[in-house]
Amino acid sequence: MGAEAIRRIGVFTSGGDAPGMNACIRAVVRTALHHGLEVIGIRRGYAGMIEGDFVEMDAASVSNIIQLGGTILKSARSEAFKTPEGRARAAQQLQQAGIQALVAIGGDGTFRGASIFHEEYGFPIVGCPGTIDNDLFGTDETIGYDTAVNTALQAIDKIRDTADAHDRLFFIEVMGRDSGFIALACAIGGGAELVLVPEAFVDLDEIRESLYRVLAHKRRSSIVVVAEGDELGGAQKLAEKLRPIFPDYEMRVTVLGHIQRGGSPTARDRMLATRLGVAAVEALLDGHDNVMVGVINNEIHLTPLRNTWSKKKTIDYDLLRLVQLLS
Ligand code: ADP
Repeated sequence: MGAEAIRRIGVFTSGGDAPGMNACIRAVVRTALHHGLEVIGIRRGYAGMIEGDFVEMDAASVSNIIQLGGTILKSARSEAFKTPEGRARAAQQLQQAGIQALVAIGGDGTFRGASIFHEEYGFPIVGCPGTIDNDLFGTDETIGYDTAVNTALQAIDKIRDTADAHDRLFFIEVMGRDSGFIALACAIGGGAELVLVPEAFVDLDEIRESLYRVLAHKRRSSIVVVAEGDELGGAQKLAEKLRPIFPDYEMRVTVLGHIQRGGSPTARDRMLATRLGVAAVEALLDGHDNVMVGVINNEIHLTPLRNTWSKKKTIDYDLLRLVQLLS
C-alpha cells in the first residue's frame, strides 16, 4: 500500500503499560490530524483489535492526558492474537473500519505480534517503544523507563532512611524479568552496595564475600538491589539463603512491584514519548513501514521491527563495576 493512499490510521497500546504512553498517544493523534489523517483509537491492544473495539479520536480526545500515567486506550494481553484465526479476525476488523496503517505502542511482545501480523497481511505498521524495562533494541531508552527508575528511587531513598535508623540490610526487588536496566540505574542512583541482574550471574559465594566486605567496613545500613529476573530467584529467596550466613544482621525484603508502572511520567519520558509519537506518524507518511522509531544519541532512528526483539540490547557492564567500586 503506497504512503499516499493512507487516509486513516489506528493507534493502540499493548502489553505492559508504561508511564508516557498517553503522551505518545497524544502526539500520534495530533500529528496525524495535523497532516489531515483520520485517527482511530483501538482499545485494549490486540484484544480490542480482534473485537473491533474502536473509537474515533479528535484533538480534544487527547486533551489533558500528557501528564497521566497508564493509557487512556487501555492495554491488554491477548492469547487469541497469537493464533492465525485471531489475527485473521483482527485484519478483518481493521479492513471493515477502513484502517490502513497502525501505530503500535508497546514492548517486545507487542512487536513480535506486529511483525507476524505484518508478514501475514502486509499492514503498514510503525512501533513506538513503550515499556518500563528498556529492553528493546533500536533505542537508547523506552517510554516509561525513566519514570519507573525515578519511582523506584524515591522508594529506595525512603527505605534507606529506615534501614539506616536500624542498621539493617535491605534487599529491594525491582522490575526486570529479563533485563537489569531498572536495577542497574536504581543501584547507581540509590547508592546500593550490591546489584544483581539477569545479565550477570553472581553466585552465592560471591554475594556472601561482597556482603562480608560491606558489613565489616561500616556499621551502617546496606541496600542490595535485585532485579526480579535474577537467577537466584529474586529478593525473597536471596534473603532466605543469606539469613543463616549472617545471623547477627537484620535483613528485610521489599518488593516494589507495580508502583513502578504507575504515576505521572517524568519530563524526560514526556519528551521521549512526544518525539517518538510524532516520528511514528511522519515515518508512516514518508512510506516507512514495519519499523520501530527510537532515539539513539539524541537522534530519531528507524529499526526493522523484527530486530527490536530478536537482537539483544545489552546493559552497560561498566556500570556494574561502578556499583562495586563505590560500595
Ligand atoms: P509487551 O509488549 O509489554 O512485551 P506482552 O509480551 O504481553 O507485552 O505482549 C503483548 C501482546 O502481544 C500479547 O498479549 C500478544 O497478544 C501479542 N504477542 C506477543 N507475542 C506474540 C507472538 N509470538 N505472536 C503473536 N502475538 C504475540
